[in-house]
Amino acid sequence: MKVNQAEFIISAVGPSQYPVDALPEIALAGRSNVGKSSLINRMINRKNLARTSSKPGKTQQLNYYRINSDLYFVDLPGYGYAQVSKTEREKWGKFIEQYLMHREPMKLLLHMIDLRHPPSKDDQAMYAWLKHHGVPICIVATKADKIPKGKWQKHIKIIKETLQADKSDPLVLFSSETGMGKEELWSVIEQRIGY
Ligand code: GDP
Repeated sequence: MKVNQAEFIISAVGPSQYPVDALPEIALAGRSNVGKSSLINRMINRKNLARTSSKPGKTQQLNYYRINSDLYFVDLPGYGYAQVSKTEREKWGKFIEQYLMHREPMKLLLHMIDLRHPPSKDDQAMYAWLKHHGVPICIVATKADKIPKGKWQKHIKIIKETLQADKSDPLVLFSSETGMGKEELWSVIEQRIGY
């Protein structure tokens, strides 16, 4: 996809603020710091449209970015922040579950996993929940530049095994630093939205 225009639309705190134009939505989920904002910026060739390292505590906002008149990226709040209270976590769960289960324009969830480490318990629980509810997933292994090329396959295998990943889910190796995986990820997205 050629990105001609990319625009921050809204930090939505509830369904009444979601866009009503029915453009396909590509959601991003992952632990805080996994690289969601950096991925959005890389995908749209902007340094700083999506805020990187956003503070924890914003547990109930969906950040919408419109790309051309083709789609939205929807940045879900990161999970797995130790500082966040149990009540906050529960709120996070309800809010995100609502979105993922009932948001009709949501066509694909990019489940982002740091290539360097085996998926955490939170990652595993998230993946299992997504599969259980039939959410279409693309696994994105982030920060690939931080692992030597010769070890990529080993790390990918650990991710797949730990998540018990479905063989039919695409997995894209990605680096926001080098741009690796960008074209491949665009083609997964395009295919999914029938672009
Ligand atoms: P978010 O909390 O998931 O939105 O994560 P950010 O995009 O803010 O990234 C968290 C930190 O990881 C920042 O310091 C980024 O610069 C860094 N980071 C993100 N993606 C990459 C990557 O692909 N390679 C490297 N080396 N660092 C990255």
